[in-house]
Amino acid sequence: MADCWSVSRPLPPLLLLVLAVACGPQEVSLEGDLEGPPAELFSSLPQGLVTCDERQDTGYTSGTPFAITVVTCDSKPCERDTANAYAVMQQAAAAEGVKLVVVSGFRTQAEQQYLYGCYTNCNCNNCNLAAKPGYSNHQSGHALDLNTASPGVLAWLNANGGAFGFKRTVPSEDWHWEWWGGGPGGGPCGLTQYGCTTGEADNCAQYGCGCQDHACSGGFCPGPGCTADESTSCTARGCACVNHACSGGACEGTGCTARESNDCAALGCGCVDHACAGGACSGSGCTTRETSACADQGCGCVDHACSGGACAGAGCTLSQRAGCADAGRACGMGVCGEPLAPLPGDGETPPKGTDAGVGPAPTLEAAVGTFGCNAPTAATPTPAWALLLAGLWLVKGRSRQRR
Ligand SMILES: [Zn+2]
Repeated sequence: MADCWSVSRPLPPLLLLVLAVACGPQEVSLEGDLEGPPAELFSSLPQGLVTCDERQDTGYTSGTPFAITVVTCDSKPCERDTANAYAVMQQAAAAEGVKLVVVSGFRTQAEQQYLYGCYTNCNCNNCNLAAKPGYSNHQSGHALDLNTASPGVLAWLNANGGAFGFKRTVPSEDWHWEWWGGGPGGGPCGLTQYGCTTGEADNCAQYGCGCQDHACSGGFCPGPGCTADESTSCTARGCACVNHACSGGACEGTGCTARESNDCAALGCGCVDHACAGGACSGSGCTTRETSACADQGCGCVDHACSGGACAGAGCTLSQRAGCADAGRACGMGVCGEPLAPLPGDGETPPKGTDAGVGPAPTLEAAVGTFGCNAPTAATPTPAWALLLAGLWLVKGRSRQRR
């Protein structure tokens, strides 16, 4: 797969200035390039060759220079991101039997100056129209002149170029196509260590996400933002993987991406190890590492913070408190405790038993309190003090009779 991007063959003689067109007045457009159509024997051009050996050059946008990374498309210099988009489009066209060829790609200031001189002095390049040096989108790296004079090429581009992010920006120049982003992504050059182009990575970064195998992942996007290998490695350490780093479980961090945390927060819950936990959800809302650290202080852990025991707070999540309240009990350290005092005027006794599935089972102490100790017994034996009183009364009565 990778080989098809890096085939190298002897380059044909580089025809730098192949533009040829009848002079004649032309409408000056500020939008795109001003140039004549490329004239070259297209059948002699190499095709399907995007080589990713990079070099730095100086590009220009609106007369302002900037550093540009250049690779090679069909033997022509091309800006790297544009080359990636082109390579993907070129492959799709080839699959439909259409042979796209770059006739002119990135141009240096010197090359544009030469073309502009030919145009103004009318002494070379057929006196062809050329954009002012520093103002051609061949210099910004976005423009490619393609072999639209070849049969079928222009029709294919008109039908499909847009899907790959390529647009014709100058109506009078059907060979001149520009790429400013868009399309399916992909391409062979400048891949980050995670299998994305720098353009894709930059695009994902704008959404607060990483990029994984040509797709945004992690951060505020779906997915953990980790490679399969990274996830396996983190799992072996007892941790989750988030944004290319071990997190949660026995490791630092919550083990959740920003997106997961947001989604759980919308449910009134925290997030632990890629799952909603704590708050209104089941679970303590703490990682194993957090739980262990709090236990060392003699505390429980709730929603990523020490609570209960030796620490401030009851040590119960919202869900646990609600579960205990349903059973008429307070919650402490994650378990339901003594029955709550009934509200004044409320003749009902607290409901017996626990709500199945909500909160932990009550403590033994609480269960005893509910189920028997205070219940009235059927037969109460006559107390000793009553017998004594009765005896005294009898003795007193007899002494009265003796008088
Ligand atoms: Zn052009």
